[in-house]
Amino acid sequence: MDRNKSFYKWDRLILFSGGVESTAILSSMANDTDFAVTFTKEKWQNKNDWVNIEAVKRIITKLKIKNHLFYDIPPPANFDLSLHRAHRHQVDVIYPFVLYFLRVNPQISEVYYGNNSGDRNAAYVMPLHDEWFDIFSIGWDLDPASTAKDYKRRINVVHPLGKLTKKEHWMLIPDEVKPDVYSCWARMGPNPSEEPCGTCEKCEKRKKLGLPLG
Ligand SMILES: [Zn+2]
Repeated sequence: MDRNKSFYKWDRLILFSGGVESTAILSSMANDTDFAVTFTKEKWQNKNDWVNIEAVKRIITKLKIKNHLFYDIPPPANFDLSLHRAHRHQVDVIYPFVLYFLRVNPQISEVYYGNNSGDRNAAYVMPLHDEWFDIFSIGWDLDPASTAKDYKRRINVVHPLGKLTKKEHWMLIPDEVKPDVYSCWARMGPNPSEEPCGTCEKCEKRKKLGLPLG
């Protein structure tokens, strides 16, 4: 059996949050062989949730993205990242599911992850991403009797617009989609605010770059 052949035609996974960078990717380079996935935590979301589901749906519709899925991460039992001494991050909740997607869809050879040119300087979180990207890239083979070819198969994690600034990303988004690209923390979670708060870290970043609040 050739496990690189699949019923599904898509061969690229796009991680789509509804934020500026991933919306710029969907706006400028997505095609029908891409599969976009938005991870949510609908059943246990709180004010720190990272997605506004309704806004994401509007973006997907407006951009006519053919293959998109919400994947609702199950509530972890008795688990609170903030209570643990290890300085980990929400990527540690999301990325195991990305790994799962890659393993059950062996035709996928590339993962697109939105990143801007400033993100590299930003922070402790980038090494955490990199650790996971390394794990994604390792080939594997479920069937020990098959040829070793799949062990060599690499999955590339790509930041396709990573050399562009956040503002340049913003400019790639069609005007009719821009009002649905939310960043403000107050607009995420179960009872999202209608308007951006203007004071959270995400709003401050937009102000600094001269982008409208969203
Ligand atoms: Zn805000």
